[in-house]
Amino acid sequence: MEIYLDANATTPVLPQARAAALAAMAEDFGNPSSIHSTGLKARAVMDGVRLRARRVLGASSGQLLFLSGATEGIQTAVLSALSSLRHGQARAELLLYGATEHKAVPEALKHWNALLGLGLQVLAIPVGRDGRHDLAWLRAHAPRAGLVCTMAANNETGVISDLDGIEAALADSRALWLVDSVQALGKLALNLAGRRIDYAPFSGHKLYAPKGIGMLYVRDGAPFTPLMAGGGQEGALRAGTENMSGIAALGAVLTALEEGRSFQDKTTLAVYRACLAAALERAFAGLVFNAPPELCLPTTLNFSVPGLSSKLLLDLFDAADVRVSGGSACSAAQAMPSDVLMAMGLPAWQAASAVRLSFGPAADAAFIDEACARIRACGDALRQSCLSPGQPSPELPAGGVTRFVVDGACCYLLVDEGSKRCIVIDPVPELTGSLTQLLSCHGHTLAAVLDTHSHGDHASSAGDLRAAVPHLLEPGSVDALGWPLGAEQILLGALRLSRLALPGHTEDSSAYLLHDAQGLRLAFVGDTLMPGALGRSDFAQSAPMSFGASLLSLARAIGPQTLLLPGHDYDDRFATTLATEIAAQPLLAGVLHGRLDSAGFAAAKAALEQDLALTEFQTLACGARVDEGRSGGNASLHQLAPAALPALLRAHPDLLLVDVREPYEQGLSQTPQLGPAVRCQAVPLSRLVNALPGWLALPPGTRVLFFCRSGNRSSQAAKALRRLGHGQAWSLAGGLALWPHDTDLAACDPALAI
Ligand code: PLP
Repeated sequence: MEIYLDANATTPVLPQARAAALAAMAEDFGNPSSIHSTGLKARAVMDGVRLRARRVLGASSGQLLFLSGATEGIQTAVLSALSSLRHGQARAELLLYGATEHKAVPEALKHWNALLGLGLQVLAIPVGRDGRHDLAWLRAHAPRAGLVCTMAANNETGVISDLDGIEAALADSRALWLVDSVQALGKLALNLAGRRIDYAPFSGHKLYAPKGIGMLYVRDGAPFTPLMAGGGQEGALRAGTENMSGIAALGAVLTALEEGRSFQDKTTLAVYRACLAAALERAFAGLVFNAPPELCLPTTLNFSVPGLSSKLLLDLFDAADVRVSGGSACSAAQAMPSDVLMAMGLPAWQAASAVRLSFGPAADAAFIDEACARIRACGDALRQSCLSPGQPSPELPAGGVTRFVVDGACCYLLVDEGSKRCIVIDPVPELTGSLTQLLSCHGHTLAAVLDTHSHGDHASSAGDLRAAVPHLLEPGSVDALGWPLGAEQILLGALRLSRLALPGHTEDSSAYLLHDAQGLRLAFVGDTLMPGALGRSDFAQSAPMSFGASLLSLARAIGPQTLLLPGHDYDDRFATTLATEIAAQPLLAGVLHGRLDSAGFAAAKAALEQDLALTEFQTLACGARVDEGRSGGNASLHQLAPAALPALLRAHPDLLLVDVREPYEQGLSQTPQLGPAVRCQAVPLSRLVNALPGWLALPPGTRVLFFCRSGNRSSQAAKALRRLGHGQAWSLAGGLALWPHDTDLAACDPALAI
């Protein structure tokens, strides 16, 4: 059973609303503008719903229009207000909106302000740490404002605005006032006609009505300009035949709200939220809530967990069939902080790792109990994966290389399972907590913490890590990059790490070469050579004239197909080889094939690095990329449509399926069952580099199909393998979310060591 905790995004349609919509399509299907009996019946339905809505919203006066949703309501209100400002006597200077407003509001303000040629200044009203508007600021600016837009309750945090305080702050202003009331419907008594509010948009799908139906309240006397002109519907205020099935469904929801049978009261909802909050706090050590509960809707919780990204938490919840929402847009390598939480002044980590959990007033105790049980299971899965304090699961793979990425900067953990010794390469401060946690949970001892060079874009946290985790080295017995003084190599059980000096990117740049019983296994090359880029060499600590010679000495030390793990990976390529980079980078080919000497190489490289812009993470670019990045190339070439999977399995019995989800997800979810004939491997994306050499050694025609929860991570894996030369790497589009129901899959083999 799916536990849907994303009601602030949308809700399912209430059974009685579904029935009403069906009746409006099958029986009372008339056009309310027709004057025959079928039309009159439809009009009666519509009038009845409008009357009910007026009662629920406290809108005994003013206009109440049906339209497609809140976004249309916001456009209509903004167009109306701005049109009146354009023709008005007193010249307004400002358009104000709350800093935590839904995007629809500031975007509409900017759009219509430009389109109508008003040129007014659009300013955000600051909010405090509690998410509420700064009323003193508003009071000071309101007299110069033509329109003020605030919201009744925030969609991300649930913070309820102080509408009385805002109204008082507008006392000396003639500004029009728009209140986005989307999240308030059914949860707050608005008493619209009793307030100064000029415009209030609503969306039906946030309260168990279908998508495509909304309402806009317009105060008597407030300026109005129709967004759509045409057949004169809605008293010529909004043209277009009315969405009668949507209106009928909304009517059924409003009836349920008035009768109070289908919805819980505020006190019960607050008890439910407290249960969920307690389950979350027990499941996730160090969890913090991002808004004060006493100021929030009783149906919304917004939280962050130190050391756990919102992407990780979303994947975790989704694996447990719990649907929640990230408070921020994010991808595997990048976390964009939530604008709402940043506006509230929350620390960047909190704003970037927020998760929103929201339920609707139709929730019941059994649903909340099940939600709490699943949250507890998520906490257990994290503990078994050593991402939270606890005991690791016996099946958890730990040996080999695990990769962590923070804003494109790569950090590697190299573990020898036999000796339980490990080495961390290029640590970043953001990972100190989770690495400490991971190593102590596994009982690993640090043999070394190494940097490949002194970094320009971030500080090394080697010292913090050495202080936090048991290690084998005496203080002061290592050099600036963490290499043991006087040592030729570092032994890690059967593994051996040697060092190769590669001055260029910086004077002290080094590569660390990993050998096992079979010979050279892979190399950590820092920023000397990255996928699609050579490390920049225009820093004060760079050695540009030595760079060419360093590349030659790297080429002598490794083979063309040796796996190279970079210090930065801005485009999710994971690893590279000299052969791949020679083909992609003419400059590299030039120096390695003797066409460029050191000086020629340095000059060409300096030209390439001129005016290097910041990366998309707003950090210093560590190299000039010469081939297409994340958005380049034919993005869908490697995607397999879910419907094509059964035929592919039949046509290619040698197909290798690879589950790239992390162990905590694999443990939580029920994986589809498939016949034993299908070859299937479990290789978490964080440990992908261990498996790359094996896949590259497969016969060229062997198809490798990666899958994950949503198709995002599998797409990265397929593209990385293709770039390295295996042309038959595929990603299952839509992942397990769109997995064909008639195709089962056996649990995949997690055993994969370096
Ligand atoms: N305003 C708020 C506060 C919202 O939460 C939303 C939807 O998330 C909207 C406006 C836009 O609503 P719709 O997409 O239904 O038009």
